[in-house]
Amino acid sequence: MIKRWLKPGDILLIAMVVVPVLLIMPSLMQEAWNQPSGFFRGLARLAGVIGLSLMLLAAMMSIRLPYLDRLFGGLPRLWSQHRWVGFLSFMLVMLHAWGLSFSVITRGMEPAMTVLFPPLSYWPVWMGWLALALMVAFLGPTFRFAGRLNYQKWKRLHLLSAPATVAALAHTLPLATYPLVWWFLGALAIGAVIWRKVLSPSLGRFEYEVVEVNTLVRGVVEISLKPRGKPIQYEAGQFVYLTPFDDSLSNGVGEEHPYTLSSAPSDKYLKVGIKDLGDSSHAIQTIRKGSRVQIEGPYGDFYERHYPQKQQLWLGGGIGITPFVSGARDMAGQEKPAAQVHLFYLANDPSRAYFADELKEIAVKQPTFDLTLHLFREQGAMTAAFLQEHCPDYREREIYMCGPAPMINHLRALLMHEGVPASAIHFEVFDFL
Ligand SMILES: Cc1cc2nc3c(=O)[nH]c(=O)nc-3n(C[C@H](O)[C@H](O)[C@H](O)COP(=O)(O)OP(=O)(O)OC[C@H]3O[C@@H](n4cnc5c(N)ncnc54)[C@H](O)[C@@H]3O)c2cc1C
Repeated sequence: MIKRWLKPGDILLIAMVVVPVLLIMPSLMQEAWNQPSGFFRGLARLAGVIGLSLMLLAAMMSIRLPYLDRLFGGLPRLWSQHRWVGFLSFMLVMLHAWGLSFSVITRGMEPAMTVLFPPLSYWPVWMGWLALALMVAFLGPTFRFAGRLNYQKWKRLHLLSAPATVAALAHTLPLATYPLVWWFLGALAIGAVIWRKVLSPSLGRFEYEVVEVNTLVRGVVEISLKPRGKPIQYEAGQFVYLTPFDDSLSNGVGEEHPYTLSSAPSDKYLKVGIKDLGDSSHAIQTIRKGSRVQIEGPYGDFYERHYPQKQQLWLGGGIGITPFVSGARDMAGQEKPAAQVHLFYLANDPSRAYFADELKEIAVKQPTFDLTLHLFREQGAMTAAFLQEHCPDYREREIYMCGPAPMINHLRALLMHEGVPASAIHFEVFDFL
C-alpha cells in the first residue's frame, strides 16, 4: 500500500529537508536550553531552515526532464507537490520572521522591531525581506488570492521565484551554521532553474513538422507530426509540450502548451488531439501543414506501466479521451496485450464522441479491449448500475480516468462509494500546472 502512495523520488525530497534540520538541531537545542526566550528563537530558526529547504526544493522540482518525473509519479503529481511545497515554504518563512521578533517581545516593542528592521548595514536581514516580498508577488496569483490569472502572465510573474531564491540564499549564507549545505542545495535549485529556463528550450526540444491536420468535430483537431531529426521515444498515455512556429496563427506562436499524445508509440507520426479551450488552442486549430513545431518530452506516468498484469478500467471524457486513444491504438498493434481493458467513453452525445468509430473497430479486432459508450444527454451522469451492467468486475480493476474536473470528481466519489480503494484510482485532469 505504501508503495502505491510513496514514490521513490519522494524519499529524495524528504531527505533534502530532513538533512538540514538534523544538522541544525543540536545548535537549536543548545540555544533553547541556555538562553532566555531561546525556545521561540529556536522555533523561529527551525521554521527558517525548513522554509528555505522547501523553497530550494520547490525550485528543484520545477525542473522538467523527460523520464525523471516518473520517479515522482509523473509531472502533474510533481507539480502539484511543487505547489504545496512552495506554499508551505511561504508560511514557514512568515513564521520565521514573526517568531524571531516574538522571541524578544518580552523585552519590549523596540527590540522586537529592531530584530525585524535592523540598520541597513545589516543587509542579510534586508535580503530576507526582499525574498519574502518577491514570494508574495509570485505566489499570490498561484494561490489565486486575487482571482485567476492568465496562464502566460502567471508564468512570467513566476520568474520572480529565481531572484527570490537568490535573495533567500544571500540572507542565509552569512548567518548559517552550516553554509556548505545551503551552497549545495542552492546550486541544485539554481541549476534546475537554469536548465528549465535557459538551456532546455534549445537543448531539450525536438524538431517536428505538421503533416496533417484532421478536424474531428468543430473545435477539435488531431494534428500529425513528422520528425525533422531524431524522434522522441514515448509510452502510451504520456504527454509533451508542443510549441508551434506557424506565423499565420493568431495566437500562441512560440508558446509551449502540454498535450497528450494520441498516437501509439509504434506509429510513424506523433499525433495530438487538441480541443479549443482558450486562445492558443483555438488558434492552433488552423495550423498549416508544413509548419514547424518543437516537442519537449515525453512526460507523465499515467498508466500502462503500473500493474500491467491487472485488469484495467479506463474512463475517458471529452478531450480527456486522448491518453486512452493512444492506449487503444497501442493495444491494436499488439498480438497479445498483457492487460484486459474496458474503456468507457463518456461524451455528451454521439456527435461529440469523435474517436468512437476508430475505438469500436479496435474493440472488434482486439479481444482484450472492450468499449462502452456513455452519453450524458441520454443517460445522465454515470452511475454504479451502468458500470455494473457493462463491466461487472469493475471494482476489482485498476482504474484510470481522464477528463474535465467535474467528471473526475463525480467518478471518484462514485467509485469510492462503491468500495474501490483510492489507491486503485489514477486520474489526470487537463488543467493548470
Ligand atoms: C498533462 C496535460 C495534458 C493535456 N492534454 C491535452 C490534450 O491532449 N488535448 C487538449 O486539447 N488539451 C490538453 N491539455 C490542456 C491544454 O494544455 C490546455 O487546454 C491549453 O494549454 C490551453 O491553452 P490556451 O492558451 O488555449 O488556453 P488559456 O485561455 O490560456 O487557458 C484555458 C485553460 O487551460 C489551462 N492552461 C493554459 N495553458 C496551460 C499550460 N501551459 N499548462 C496547463 N494548463 C494550461 C488554463 O489554466 C485554463 O484552465 C492538457 C493539459 C495537461 C496539463
